[in-house]
Amino acid sequence: MVVEVINTGTELLLGEILNTNFQYLSRHLNDLGFDVLYQTTVGDNPSRMRETIEHALGRADIVITSGGLGPTRGDITKEVVMELCGLEGYSDFSTLCRIYDFLAAKGVTPTPNNEKQAIVPFGADVLENPAGTAPGLWLEHKGKIIILLPGPPHEVEAVCETQLWPRLMQRFPENGVLITRTLRLRGIGESSVATRIDELILKQSNPTIAIYARHGEILIRIAAKAASPALAKELIASVEEKIRASLAKYIYGADNDSPAAILGERLKALHATIAFAESCSGGLASSLITDIAGSSEYLKGSVVSYTNEIKERVLGVNPETLKNPGAVSSKCACEMAAGVRKLMDTDYGISITGNAGPGMSEGKPVGLVYIAVANRTLVYWQEHHFDGNRTENKLRIAQAAINMMLDKLQQV
Ligand code: ATP
Ligand code: MG
Repeated sequence: MVVEVINTGTELLLGEILNTNFQYLSRHLNDLGFDVLYQTTVGDNPSRMRETIEHALGRADIVITSGGLGPTRGDITKEVVMELCGLEGYSDFSTLCRIYDFLAAKGVTPTPNNEKQAIVPFGADVLENPAGTAPGLWLEHKGKIIILLPGPPHEVEAVCETQLWPRLMQRFPENGVLITRTLRLRGIGESSVATRIDELILKQSNPTIAIYARHGEILIRIAAKAASPALAKELIASVEEKIRASLAKYIYGADNDSPAAILGERLKALHATIAFAESCSGGLASSLITDIAGSSEYLKGSVVSYTNEIKERVLGVNPETLKNPGAVSSKCACEMAAGVRKLMDTDYGISITGNAGPGMSEGKPVGLVYIAVANRTLVYWQEHHFDGNRTENKLRIAQAAINMMLDKLQQV
């Protein structure tokens, strides 16, 4: 089954928003065994939208659109499809009630143009939207299936999870499933990983194996296609076993595990607490830690010590250190880590100081960063060099600090 996804919205063409709907839809459709062979983006212009949908119907079995189902005049996707298919619509009473209920629950007064959202083309099925007013629509036209979804990503996900995926699976049971599993590795480079599992990669067909490097870690994605999830999982398990035989000591987790989540598990198991002193990462390491529910069990607090004054006054960094060798130095990192550990009375203090860019600072190059971890008796430090832009560097720096803390715990 060939699928084409059409994402509508002039703001996508202007580069104002990232097309995350496509990524979400494409990933799930592939997992469900559909071949997503085309993706098109078109602005909110009726003739170009019509032309795009017509073209898609000429080369795909299923056309899925996202966007343009809202109440305003600029939202035209449904109208364009109805005109293209020569369909009239009717006001669907149960959809209208749902829209009114949804708005009432939010304390919003409906406007007359909300009624436009309850218009359903004759012959189409409504895909209820639990997260918004615009329902999705499923219609069949000349042997093709056209699915209309709203634009806001959380609404797309809500309609797909509750309505569209179950319906597609029911309609195309022969499709089989694609199940993926991602192994996460640290402390080894991409090429070493590739070398160690070279033979498996050469022989791969189903499951397929792909290696990616991302944010200081390596991901191995194993994807298996089979008639049922159980069979696909069996195929994955046998490949995973072989990968683990060569790389076990570098594999720290799988799928949605993150270094922050694993660090949290280890800290909880040890009943240990941490605190961060962050300079150039601006609090991002602490933010990644607090993405994990329950992190208050081990993160007591953090200081964003962006200026030398705060490093000295709050963390107790020696003013002589700040003069020479300066704030971007291993010495300063060590004093910050020890200082924040003492200040927050934790088992570990982790510090980050460096130059995230874009220009030289204190005569230190962009991307030079020192990270330190202090326990009650010792302080360890590392020097890193990052070569991305400021935003990328901040994320990598924060992740490097979390990784360093994880490494230290592994040695406990
Ligand atoms: P609304 O009722 O909010 O108008 P809609 O179904 O008409 O919803 P659009 O107007 O096309 O959808 O998009 C609404 C918002 O959803 C956009 O401003 C944008 O923030 C987000 N959005 C739309 N399409 C995408 C996409 N492909 N990827 C990510 N976000 C998107
Ligand atoms: Mg809209």
